[in-house]
Amino acid sequence: MSKRDYYEVLGVDRSSSADEIKKAYRKKAVQYHPDKNPGDREAEERFKEATEAYEVLRDDEKRKRYDQFGHSGVDGGFGGPGAGFGGFDLSDALRAFMRDFGGMGLDDLFGGFGAGGATRERSVRRGQNLQVRLKLTLEEVAAGVSKKIKLRRMSPCETCRGSGARPGSSPATCPDCRGVGQVRQVQRSILGQFVSVAPCRRCGGVGEVILDPCDACHGEGRGQITETLSVDIPAGVSQGNYIPIESKGHAGPRGGPPGDLVIIIEEKDHHVFERHGDDVLCEVPISYPTAALGGKIEVPTLSGTARLEIPAGTQTHQVFRLRGQGIPHLHSSRRGDQLVRARIWTPKKLSPEERMILEKLGEIQGKLPKPGRGIFERIRDAITG
Ligand SMILES: [Zn+2]
Ligand SMILES: [Zn+2]
Repeated sequence: MSKRDYYEVLGVDRSSSADEIKKAYRKKAVQYHPDKNPGDREAEERFKEATEAYEVLRDDEKRKRYDQFGHSGVDGGFGGPGAGFGGFDLSDALRAFMRDFGGMGLDDLFGGFGAGGATRERSVRRGQNLQVRLKLTLEEVAAGVSKKIKLRRMSPCETCRGSGARPGSSPATCPDCRGVGQVRQVQRSILGQFVSVAPCRRCGGVGEVILDPCDACHGEGRGQITETLSVDIPAGVSQGNYIPIESKGHAGPRGGPPGDLVIIIEEKDHHVFERHGDDVLCEVPISYPTAALGGKIEVPTLSGTARLEIPAGTQTHQVFRLRGQGIPHLHSSRRGDQLVRARIWTPKKLSPEERMILEKLGEIQGKLPKPGRGIFERIRDAITG
């Protein structure tokens, strides 16, 4: 079987930096890691292949040889004659991976989704986290809100109380790993002899086997339930904020601890307001007489309406600030403002009387100002507030 090009394996260019190579490898390794794909031979091969490529390309000297001579430049050139990358096995690959990324913990690498691992017994049985997206209106964001969330999640089986064993019977200690959940093997590798640890295949790392499974859950120890949960959302959250709720994720198999619930906040578009941080923006039409003469108008706010004094001579795009009518800052008592941008409203239909008055106005009104850059200054004013 001919080997694939190492750069192709990692999906990087020949000119990639060491950092880019490391990142690309990490991505592939996490995707194909055996702990994440238990029993999947194809994934295992991919994992080995990526690690082999990484081991060559991360090393300047070997990378140079590979660039010059291809696979023959590095095969057999590592660990002495006859012990080249042809014999690169899974233990070597796992060891290389753990050397560079082991400090992070598999949970971190796999996003904490309870992937079975050779690292910790806890991670084998822990249930998955549950993510829920929660859409909020701007009014709800401004005031804070209590929401009911409907969840479908795995919960411990009531018949066997999560054990997975038929009531009256109990799980037996796994004969293969003697209850440890891991199997240690002494292996010979290109790096010499060492002890490798893998999750026990028989019990899946749990340490126990069910000889007489529960009828209700078929030995899984859990089943799906629908549950309604009440959640208090504080005022001032924004799009992408998330609220973790401990232990409200899926129950783990066979009595394993539950994962967490993660509520991800989404903001609905508002038909009047646009949010800018803690401030909200809106545009209100004002009549030409109000703009010219000044007057009081009513404007919508997130909590109702407010009166706004329009000074005489108000121009289109002039911005007024309603202090404290914006969104509360999440972690303080500070509150944003509401910015109201005026737009002179032009009627599309005129009554005979309106027409008469406007025609008269047109006759007596003075000249318009010359075109200029004023409009842009006003837009800048609006932006800088
Ligand atoms: Zn059960
Ligand atoms: Zn076992």
